[in-house]
Amino acid sequence: MTNAQASLAHLYRVFTKPEGQDSKLAQIEQHLSDNLADFLSRHVVASPRSLEDIEQDFSESLLPEQPQFVSEHAQQLLDKLVAHSVNTYSPRFIGHMTSALPYFHLTLSKLLVGLNQNLVKIETSKAFTPLERQVLGMIHRLIFNHEPDFYQQFLHNAGHSLGSFCSGGTIANITALWVARNRLLKARGTFRGISQDGLLVGMQEYGYNSLSVITSRRGHYSLGKAVDVLGLGRNSLIALPCPDQTLDPALVLKEGIAIQAQGGKVLAITAIAGTTETGHIDPLDELADVAEELGCHLHVDAAWGGATLFSRRHGKLLKGIARADSVTLDAHKQMYVPMGAGMVLFKDPDAGNQVRHHAQYILRHGSKDLGATSLEGSRNGMAMMLYASLHILGRSGYELLIDQSLEKAQRFADMIEKHGNFQLTTAPVLCLLTYRLVPQVVQDKLQANPDLAASINPLLDELTVAIQKHQRESGHSFVSRTRLEIQAYPQQAINVFRVVLANPLTSDEDLAEILAEQNRLAETLPQYQQVILACGR
Ligand SMILES: *Cc1c(COP(=O)(O)O)cnc(C)c1O
Repeated sequence: MTNAQASLAHLYRVFTKPEGQDSKLAQIEQHLSDNLADFLSRHVVASPRSLEDIEQDFSESLLPEQPQFVSEHAQQLLDKLVAHSVNTYSPRFIGHMTSALPYFHLTLSKLLVGLNQNLVKIETSKAFTPLERQVLGMIHRLIFNHEPDFYQQFLHNAGHSLGSFCSGGTIANITALWVARNRLLKARGTFRGISQDGLLVGMQEYGYNSLSVITSRRGHYSLGKAVDVLGLGRNSLIALPCPDQTLDPALVLKEGIAIQAQGGKVLAITAIAGTTETGHIDPLDELADVAEELGCHLHVDAAWGGATLFSRRHGKLLKGIARADSVTLDAHKQMYVPMGAGMVLFKDPDAGNQVRHHAQYILRHGSKDLGATSLEGSRNGMAMMLYASLHILGRSGYELLIDQSLEKAQRFADMIEKHGNFQLTTAPVLCLLTYRLVPQVVQDKLQANPDLAASINPLLDELTVAIQKHQRESGHSFVSRTRLEIQAYPQQAINVFRVVLANPLTSDEDLAEILAEQNRLAETLPQYQQVILACGR
């Protein structure tokens, strides 16, 4: 047979154990189990092929009519897709929260796909549902640390939930604010609650002319999506200025009082434990006081920073987190679990009932179907990956990972400060920092005459962008960039490099080389000459 033909026999074979002709798949499996990084090591960080050229490889809009042999197709995937994927495993890929994974996840993911359990309902996920509930309980305890009998009572309780597993921080944040919204506009009298009667009736019933969510300018963009889908509108997200990168409790209180004096209601304060851009942690304890004073929900977005709680030394940075009403935590960030592992935890096990939903064929009253209180429907058993990781690494293993990342970030900050041509723009609180390249002569000029910043910063902004683009395109290393206000320039946002030291395999040598490369690159760029020229004037 030279061509695969669409026949029932052929189709059945695809669902059963493959035979000889799938040698390509077997080869891939062998390769993967030997070393995943090998697979991507054709390029250090990114393939030199341009995005436009790659798009050409994926430009056919007609459905493939005839079936293909698996081996033939696998080769195409290798050539078109794998060869040009980003090597997030590279120790010099330090720009984002996505990094290398422990090797065992590869084998476990095969188990996950192989079993294909659907956690929306017990009927398709016996064993996986109790496992997920246990994982939620462990993370709940890490955050809220209730008494053991609390967990005995609620871990597997059909009428309650300690939280919800979901695809990531975005869905977790939406779920948290969904619960907060429904709890605020709950049923009373003839009003059957917002989930029945809708937002408009709910607002009239309670007499509010607006609902607001207060956060800082470092709040994650998913909060904007959340207020949008919840029907509140993006203008209802109040992002307060934060030149020192953290939400100021006094400012929140002032803003909240002003909103409520005008007939509005603060739905929630969303504090951030580990901002996506700089890694800062809002003063959670003080914000909990403010939430009490305003009578609103306190949500803590700890999607990235929550894993710091594993560290006895650094976990204290999140002091007050146990006072939150809800907490978002992504296991696919600093818990080194494959993507698709987000969680929202609720202090009150009754909170999830605000969004409980029933159907006739599943999610029946009294069932333990997780789908009754989750935003998502069909969902895989990703909780198993976290369950395995928690056991294989243990709390103490995670503690080591967190501690060494933080120490490395501190060492990198020192390297940046000692190097004459770089400026640390935000110091690391966790393992995330920002900096930019400012030639020594320019630094001296700015020091002598701070007023120059207004005209020099825009030129430095262009230089930062140019360096970051060239470094990414050259494919040896990757840092990301963002734009933010810092304490030195509270009124003037500046462009900065952003580094997340997530990969435990990143060495000090890698970091020194990344700086050296940026320094070499800069001198070849016209933007560099422009900054120098502007300072000579
Ligand atoms: C990553 C992140 C999110 C969003 O999480 P996803 O998993 O990408 O949906 C939300 N908040 C913070 C602080 C984050 O770092």
